[in-house]
Amino acid sequence: MTDTDRDLVGELHRYLVGQRGWIVSPLLDNEIDDDGVPDTAEPIWDYPQSYRAVEIHEIAEAGPQILDAVTDIDESTWDWAPKPIKFNTAGNVRGCEKHDIIQRFFPMSALDDPTEMSAFLDEAEAHARELDPRELIECRFFGPCG
Ligand SMILES: [Zn+2]
Repeated sequence: MTDTDRDLVGELHRYLVGQRGWIVSPLLDNEIDDDGVPDTAEPIWDYPQSYRAVEIHEIAEAGPQILDAVTDIDESTWDWAPKPIKFNTAGNVRGCEKHDIIQRFFPMSALDDPTEMSAFLDEAEAHARELDPRELIECRFFGPCG
């Protein structure tokens, strides 16, 4: 990781974990530094209050996904995309309108004045808390609700 990469990861970490109560994804157990900050250019943070904090197994992309944040890679350059901060709302991959996952991207500069990003997350976090994972599982395996 370059110093710029490290700075972005650190800034995003302080915003999500320090200010909003997110956690580093357990998938990164072996990729965190002494301060608990992800030590990788592909960090993942989770919103642990998703589904009112009911824990369910994550089965690759088959089951419901919780609200998370990753940094987006531009595959043409293998560098971070122009809008490198990517949020995936809680829901199902290819779910129905109510339960679909929505991706939202922000530029690095969003961390300088996070007003818009915070407004988005206020909604995305509330949505994630309210979702019932049993409904999501039914949506996923028995077809779109409706
Ligand atoms: Zn549904």
